Amino acid sequence: MIHISFLLETVIFDVFKLILCKCPETCYNKHGINPPADGVCLDGGMEMWFIKRYAWVYLLAVLGAWAFSSLLSGGVRLAAQVAAMTEPKPMTIVLDPGHGGADGGAVSCSGALESELNLEISLRLNDLLHLAGYRTRMTRSTDVSIHSPEAQTVSERKISDLRNRVALVNETDHALLISIHQNFFEQPKYHGAQVFYAPERSSEELAEAMQAALSSCLDPNNHRAAKPDRTVYLLQNVHCPAALIECGFLSNPPEEQRLHTAQYQKQIACAVLSGLCDYLAERTDLS
Ligand SMILES: [Zn+2]
Repeated sequence: MIHISFLLETVIFDVFKLILCKCPETCYNKHGINPPADGVCLDGGMEMWFIKRYAWVYLLAVLGAWAFSSLLSGGVRLAAQVAAMTEPKPMTIVLDPGHGGADGGAVSCSGALESELNLEISLRLNDLLHLAGYRTRMTRSTDVSIHSPEAQTVSERKISDLRNRVALVNETDHALLISIHQNFFEQPKYHGAQVFYAPERSSEELAEAMQAALSSCLDPNNHRAAKPDRTVYLLQNVHCPAALIECGFLSNPPEEQRLHTAQYQKQIACAVLSGLCDYLAERTDLS
């Protein structure tokens, strides 16, 4: 678009010369398109007056050309972005709101359950991904555990729940997993979103893109890095790119309060979508 802007300015300058130049012998015709830098023609006299008299016309014309080309380039770019965002995607984003049912996960400093926040954020993210043209699937969309009926004890249900989540992801064609959780630590001073991944190339790239987007969108002072993890059952057993996002610390009172607000939850959803787009922009085989 710089070229269009330059072309428009050049054309306008030529037209300006043709219309306003009353003196064919002035420097404009002698020196071609570009007038002398100091406005003084080698022949002097008339030319200096001419530039001073009509400089503002040229200035306005250039500004007009710049504004028009910016508008044009902005419109074209926006149209391309909207088209790319809304066209159907070949992949399915599996959203996994961590915990659920009897397994509430961590309990926040104000007594809220992690499982509820995980679900609220995941549902918002699900809506946003649909809007952006992504096909999604959720491991749960209500406050339930998805264990099999034969699981009886608490531990059996927990194991069954995790196995069913893994099975759901692995039976989904062209899946990409985003698991939503909240962090907790004994000391309340820690805060900030952090992303975890199983040590595997595509998951690492996904997690790094998510971490960068979360940090820049939510808190530029969050210098946490995406971290490899070998202990999370879900991450270790799925066969697709996967990231587990700890959206914030339920043990940090200010962050815990923010995590409850619709606005912050929407910001998290937007950051995750932004990270996903950045990741997919580098993975032409997936997008
Ligand atoms: Zn959790």
